[in-house]
Amino acid sequence: MSLLEQIMDTGYSSETTFGKALISAWRQRVIRALVSPPSRLPWPGHPGKLELDAATNRLNTLHDYLEGVDMILRQRYGVPHLHNVRDPLAELLLIVLSRKTPEDAYLRAFHRLLQSHDSWEDIHHMEEDELQDMVEDGGLASKKVTAIRGMLTTIHDTFGEYSLESLEQMSDQDVLKFLASLDEVGPKSALCVMMYALERPAFPVDAHVGRFLTRLGIFTVLGLDLGALDHKQKQRYLQDLVPPELRYSLHVNALMIGRELCPASSPSCEDCPLSDRCYTGLQRV
Ligand code: SF4
Repeated sequence: MSLLEQIMDTGYSSETTFGKALISAWRQRVIRALVSPPSRLPWPGHPGKLELDAATNRLNTLHDYLEGVDMILRQRYGVPHLHNVRDPLAELLLIVLSRKTPEDAYLRAFHRLLQSHDSWEDIHHMEEDELQDMVEDGGLASKKVTAIRGMLTTIHDTFGEYSLESLEQMSDQDVLKFLASLDEVGPKSALCVMMYALERPAFPVDAHVGRFLTRLGIFTVLGLDLGALDHKQKQRYLQDLVPPELRYSLHVNALMIGRELCPASSPSCEDCPLSDRCYTGLQRV
């Protein structure tokens, strides 16, 4: 059985439902950050120490707003499947292959590589030239080869097998630390694997997600002006400020609206179902 068939047996990624306890713990964390902030404030523009009522009101405004946005995006897009898979090692490979590569090219490389091998060990022991030929669609082949060989070596050395199943026993922080330590895997890619394949409450911020949330303008309710931040800063501050139960759908649908209506160059606010609540849309329409 090819690796591709084995992976497809475990299924595609889908939205995870989180329990009330996790959502309540998130609310308490954000409220605590507003009511008793540490001396080094947790995000730029933080309003400083607030009364409990004021903090709760701000959090509720943010939560209700994002729930409304999520509902409208669900009506337009559903929460589509974007080819992500349940197997964390395969998802990691997919993310490495997708770097700066068009979708059809990286999917072709992913299917070709997994279809032609029965085990991760076979892929690990491929000749460098052969692996490079398999993944060259879309460019950056030598970086992708370095990343694939490096991650397979580290995973096998760490867990004694070509599998990321052991991550299921680890805390979110430890999983993030391990994945982000792999060659050519940054925090955003690590968070993608956590969200798509490990059912963790992670929120990866890519260019579409960062731009979309910046244009909505809602995080100013917490004093956070995303427009003043670079991409890495947006990832750092947003990863725990989005309600856990909305992270998967908001991430996926931000990609969808980013591609269709809200690209970097010129957003089509006049056609957008969010134009009556989006800060940028209200300015433009
Ligand atoms: S209203 Fe405009 S800026 Fe706002 S999300 Fe829609 S397309 Fe983007």
